[in-house]
Amino acid sequence: MRFDNSYARLPDRFYERIDPVLVNEPELIRLNRPLMQSMELDLPEDTTELAAILSGNKVPDGAEPLAMAYAGHQFGGFVPQLGDGRAVLLGEVLTEKGRRYDIQLKGSGQTRFSRAGDGRSALGPVLREYIVSEAMHALGIPTTRSLAMVSTGEIVLREKPTPGGVLTRVSSGLVRVGTFEYFAAREDWEAVRLLADHVIERHYPAARKSSTPYLDLYRLVCIATAELVARWMGVGFIHVVMNTDNTAISGETIDYGPCAFMDTYEPDKVFSSIDHFGRYAFNNQPTIAQWNMAAFGGCILPLLSENEDEARSVAQTTLETFSSIFKQSYQKVLTEKIGLPDTEEGFEHARQLLRLMHADHVDFTIAFRTLAEDLDTFSGLFINGAAITSWLGEWERYLDGAGITPDQSMQRMRQVNPAYIPRNHRIEQAIRAAEDDGDYTLTHRLIEVLENPYDDQPAYHEYRNPPKPEEIVRQTFC
Ligand code: AMP
Ligand code: MG
Ligand code: MG
Repeated sequence: MRFDNSYARLPDRFYERIDPVLVNEPELIRLNRPLMQSMELDLPEDTTELAAILSGNKVPDGAEPLAMAYAGHQFGGFVPQLGDGRAVLLGEVLTEKGRRYDIQLKGSGQTRFSRAGDGRSALGPVLREYIVSEAMHALGIPTTRSLAMVSTGEIVLREKPTPGGVLTRVSSGLVRVGTFEYFAAREDWEAVRLLADHVIERHYPAARKSSTPYLDLYRLVCIATAELVARWMGVGFIHVVMNTDNTAISGETIDYGPCAFMDTYEPDKVFSSIDHFGRYAFNNQPTIAQWNMAAFGGCILPLLSENEDEARSVAQTTLETFSSIFKQSYQKVLTEKIGLPDTEEGFEHARQLLRLMHADHVDFTIAFRTLAEDLDTFSGLFINGAAITSWLGEWERYLDGAGITPDQSMQRMRQVNPAYIPRNHRIEQAIRAAEDDGDYTLTHRLIEVLENPYDDQPAYHEYRNPPKPEEIVRQTFC
C-alpha cells in the first residue's frame, strides 16, 4: 500500500496516535475486490494474513494509525468532545492517478475519545454499514465505501451479548463539520485555518486560487451537501442521525448507524428509537442539512473577514443559497424520476405524485420503478384510481408537449429509479442469520443483488418486494 498520511502531518492536537487494539480470532467475512483494485491495493491472498490486517491485528508498513478529534451537535445539543471512540484511521493511500483514500478501521478498540464506550462494533451494524454504503455507491450517491469486514471472535455487550466485528471504511476524506466545531469551540483559530487549508487541498482545490478561498470553501461544501441530500430524497434514504459529527465536509454520506430506506412513502417517517421530536425525519433532512451548514459557517467566521459583521453577513448570504441549491437539485432528481424535463411544472407534477403515494400508502421504490416499467401495474398500486388515471393523463400530455414518447421516457427512468434498494427487512434477515448461525449467505447475496440496482434481475425478483406485515422493521438501532 502506498501511504501518504497528510492528516498525520497536522499538529498533534488534531488526533491521538494509537494502534488498533488486538482482537481474539479475526475471520474475513468479505473483501471488496473491485474497490481494492480501484485503490491499487496489493493485499495478501492468504485469508489469515488478510484478516490480521483488516482487523487491526497487523498494522501495514507505512500506516500511521490515529484517532481523529472532533466535536458535534447531537440532536441539536453541543458536545465539545466526541472523536473516534471506536475507530482508527490507518492512513491515506494515494493511487498512481493521484486519488487519495482514507482507510479507517471501525470497531478497532478504545481510544482517548471512547468515554464510557468499549471501542468495539457489534457485527450487525458492521454488516448494515457494508450493505448500505455499497448499495448507495451502486445507486450513484456519494458515500464512504466498505473495503472489508471481519468478525472478531469476541463478544460485545449491547442490549444483549452479541458477536463483534470490524469494518474497513474507505473515504475520500473523513473530516466532519464536527472537526471544525472541535477547534472553533476552543477558539483555536490557527487549527481552524489549518483544517480549512487541508480540506481545500483535498476536496475543493478550485477554492485554492480564489481571492476568497474560505468563502468559496463554504459555498462548495453547502452545494455538495445540498446535492447529496437531494439524492437521498430521491431514493427514500433516511440517515437517521444527521448530527454535525456525522456530516462530512467532502459531501459524502457518512456514518451509517441506524439508517433506513423507506418502504411505504411517509414523508414524516422517523426511524430512530431516540428521536422523539422527529428532528431527523425523512422530510426534515434538507432543513437539518442547512442547520449543519450554519454550524459549519459559524466555525469559519474568523477566516471569512477580520470584520465580524462582514464575516457574518457573507456567511449568511451563502447559507441562504442552500435552499435554492437544494430546490434546484431536488427538482432535477424528481423530474428525472418521472421522466419529464427539468422544469417547475414537471417538479410540481412529481410532487403531486408524492402526495397521491402518501395518501394511498404506496411503496416509494415500487411506485417509481413500475412507472418506468408497466403503467397498469403502476396504476394498480393506488386505491384512488380516478386520481392516478388523471395524473397519468397529464403526465402523458407533458411528455407529448416535450416531444418524448412514454417508451423513451420509461427507458430513461429505469436508469434512475432503482428496482433494488437495501430494504430493512432484508438487512435484518441477513444480520440474524449471521449472528445466530454464523451464516453469511444472505449477506453476500444481498450485497451482490444491490450491486446492480437499476438492472432487472429476474432470478432475484423477490428482493424488490416490500416487507410482509410481520417483516416490517419500525425502528433501527446503532
Ligand atoms: P455515532 O453515533 O456512531 O456517530 O458515534 C458518536 C460518538 O460516540 C463518536 O464519538 C463515537 O466514536 C462514539 N462511540 C460510539 N460507539 C462507541 C463505542 N462502542 N465505544 C466507544 N465510542 C463509541
Ligand atoms: Mg458518528
Ligand atoms: Mg456510527
